[in-house]
Amino acid sequence: MSVLIFADQAEGHIKKAAFEAISYGAKLAEQLGTTAEALVLGTVSDDLTQLGKYGAVKVHQVNNESLNHVDAQVYAAVIAEAVNTTGAQVLVFSHNQTGKAVASRTAARLKAGIVAGACALPDTSNGFVVRKTVFSGKAFANVSISTNLKVISLNPNSYTIHQGTGTAELSSLSVNVPASKVKVTAVNKVSGEVPLTEAEIVVSGGRGLKGPENWGILLDLAKVLGAATACSRPVGDAHWRPHHEHVGQTGVQVAPNLYIAIGISGAIQHLAGVNRSKVIVVINKDPEAPFFKAADYGIVGDAFEVVPKLTEEIKKLKGQ
Ligand SMILES: Cc1cc2nc3c(=O)[nH]c(=O)nc-3n(C[C@H](O)[C@H](O)[C@H](O)COP(=O)(O)OP(=O)(O)OC[C@H]3O[C@@H](n4cnc5c(N)ncnc54)[C@H](O)[C@@H]3O)c2cc1C
Repeated sequence: MSVLIFADQAEGHIKKAAFEAISYGAKLAEQLGTTAEALVLGTVSDDLTQLGKYGAVKVHQVNNESLNHVDAQVYAAVIAEAVNTTGAQVLVFSHNQTGKAVASRTAARLKAGIVAGACALPDTSNGFVVRKTVFSGKAFANVSISTNLKVISLNPNSYTIHQGTGTAELSSLSVNVPASKVKVTAVNKVSGEVPLTEAEIVVSGGRGLKGPENWGILLDLAKVLGAATACSRPVGDAHWRPHHEHVGQTGVQVAPNLYIAIGISGAIQHLAGVNRSKVIVVINKDPEAPFFKAADYGIVGDAFEVVPKLTEEIKKLKGQ
């Protein structure tokens, strides 16, 4: 009877989202009077004992190369078997791309209740009630899970990573890995960029930048901040920027520590994808732009004047 946390990896490295999920799972385990254990699929180069720093007392690994690429159906089958083998009572995922695809499938296999997109620790004082965001982050719902086994996927950036000094015990898990029904014929990797969904800082541009030829000022700011770049939907639709940068209700949903919106009006569909950001900075020449209502800091001004000055000041601060 433990809390089992699925620790997501990519190219042999455990993702930051996993540290958050383990910290959350460890706190939940403490609340339930049990232990937190992590589950890693595939071969990894990271030292898995280090997951103990985030509160995992044990790390189970299914050390099988065929699990290095995510196949949601195969992952769900393997994780379900791992849950049965380890006897976990709560299974925690990060609500990232992998978690969204795998958590629900695993819950269905195990006939377990699931809360997808949790944003707080469960209230276990009377049952098991988990708070989650609904309506694109505009409201909360408290959802009660009544099945014995419970599955939670945690919204990225909604729980603080706790780092201590523990070391986890390693355990090699032998489970049946079913053959994939999907054949991957090509993998096109975007290299040299900070992945949008993992980024701590996102610099995003809208139609206010007038055209793709003006993106240099935004890219310079992103570079000096080590940020990922994003854009509003019309910018993606007009091919000013690649589609994978489009954030919002119909695009990628992000929750960085800092989201800088440049020349974006702040339409409700855009906000739906970015309003979980910890700090929002808006640069817009129109003081009535709706985005200012959602902003923590706002600069009313022309992006073409403000952004280069901002970049210069940050360079000075960083001694560059
Ligand atoms: C079903 C549906 C789904 C949608 N999904 C999404 C989505 O996922 N993501 C998304 O982004 N949109 C989405 N949209 C579109 C959304 O409604 C808006 O039309 C869009 O977000 C507007 O993009 P924008 O802010 O870049 O452009 P605009 O609305 O044209 O705003 C440009 C802003 O730039 C400012 N500006 C102009 N010049 C300057 C300057 N020199 N300096 C500083 N500021 C300047 C203006 O004041 C203005 O506020 C969706 C719409 C629908 C109907």
